Amino acid sequence: MSNSNGNGKLVQVIDVVKNFPVGDDEVTVLKGISIDVKPGEFVSIVGPSGNGKSTLLNMITGIDRPTDGQVIVTGREVHKMSENELAAWRGEHVGIIFQFFQMLPSLNILQNVILPMDFAKKYHPKERKERAMALLEAVGLADQAHKLPGMVSGGQQQRAAIARALANDPDLIVADEPTGNLDTRTANDVFDLFLGLVERGKTLVMVTHDKELARRVPRVVEIIDGRITRDEFVGGAVWTGY
Ligand code: ADP
Ligand code: MG
Repeated sequence: MSNSNGNGKLVQVIDVVKNFPVGDDEVTVLKGISIDVKPGEFVSIVGPSGNGKSTLLNMITGIDRPTDGQVIVTGREVHKMSENELAAWRGEHVGIIFQFFQMLPSLNILQNVILPMDFAKKYHPKERKERAMALLEAVGLADQAHKLPGMVSGGQQQRAAIARALANDPDLIVADEPTGNLDTRTANDVFDLFLGLVERGKTLVMVTHDKELARRVPRVVEIIDGRITRDEFVGGAVWTGY
């Protein structure tokens, strides 16, 4: 795969330490994390609240930088890139899905999905609207395309956010508690969309608190107090979570 790291790994996190300032002091939130993700994997990251899961995702997406260690994603040294390089790289190679959707409220759903394509310029301007509609169709939202995000349900907004994350056909999809704000049934529907993406060859790293969903993910990585305490291929095994 041309966008892997040349060693069959799409994501390599190597000995990552992350400190945050707290007053005059520092707190170490990631205490030496190493994790590899291969193309096509579906990984869930679990663990108690406040233990470093989002911080780890932010290292992988380059939203934040490690204090020490390396982060190599799609063959790029994410920890060394400038903000401009990061924005361009992220726009083309990484799709990010958040708990609270983060749709732009003044753009309709279709425009929200087109926006990353306008930014990355990977697809010709004439293709973008049609591609966005096809993505909305795939997440079951074509009939809502011209509504503002605030006019549709949380589940529909998250579907739109998934379509937006797929806009530039990213190598990696990262989702931080994507079902955390949805009811159980809607969460299951959204999760089924993720499974479908993985079946079609996408690579997905998802933080979740939902133990029912986590046990359906092939690989579970547990983070407790800034360290990986478990990294297992569970493949549907029972996981007793939080
Ligand atoms: P999780 O996603 O597992 O709930 P986080 O990675 O968000 O946990 O946070 C881990 C710890 O790092 C928490 O104690 C949180 O308060 C702290 N933290 C996160 N981001 C910052 C920041 N920008 N500045 C200071 N502390 C932070
Ligand atoms: Mg978090």
